[in-house]
Amino acid sequence: MVAVRAYIGLGANVGDARATLTAAVHALAALPGASLAGVSRLYMTAPVEVTDQPEFHNAVVALDVPAGPGANTGPIALLLALKSIERALGRQDRYRYGPRELDLDLLLFGEERMAVERPEAGLSPDPAKATRLLEVPHPEVGRRLFVLAPLADLAPDLVPPGWAESVDQARSRRESIEGASAVRAIAGWDAEGRRWVETPVAS
Ligand code: ADP
Ligand code: MG
Repeated sequence: MVAVRAYIGLGANVGDARATLTAAVHALAALPGASLAGVSRLYMTAPVEVTDQPEFHNAVVALDVPAGPGANTGPIALLLALKSIERALGRQDRYRYGPRELDLDLLLFGEERMAVERPEAGLSPDPAKATRLLEVPHPEVGRRLFVLAPLADLAPDLVPPGWAESVDQARSRRESIEGASAVRAIAGWDAEGRRWVETPVAS
């Protein structure tokens, strides 16, 4: 079977964020045909955009998924799976950039570059619905240290499609803008115990 490596960004700042992100890693690993290829360190990060809210926990997962073709393969099927994991783990509808129980973003899907508009685009006055249904690479990856730092744990030398620099180059550029204290690694993934542990394991 031909597999595609996808990178998924995880974030939470409501409830027991660390437990939720751990459950999300387990759910991603259990998706049909998927295999877990890596889990970043766990980070505590300052909120962006809406700054009057609790700190976030963030991480990134590398997941190998079937390349397709098939009814349940490809980036849109994966996005729908992410949305159903968000709901299953308690995500409530709130405003954009606000607090959330769980956010799963499809950051990269192999070498794929795509932008899928919402069918109802233009009809909705709700700015939260102004985003595309799916865009990969996710447009915010290069602008957010809370994504670049964990992604650089897994794939520092990767140059995402459409980028002119590697993930680690983007990470250090953002670090010089946001400051190193904007994100703090607090634990490393223990593959055997299937959880993050305080004594950082090699990342
Ligand atoms: P945020 O942009 O803060 O992650 P949401 O999680 O509420 O906010 O996502 C808003 C919308 O972004 C989703 O309904 C989804 O259809 C759309 N979207 C577009 N591209 C992506 C992507 N690469 N990964 C996840 N969601 C995406
Ligand atoms: Mg999201």
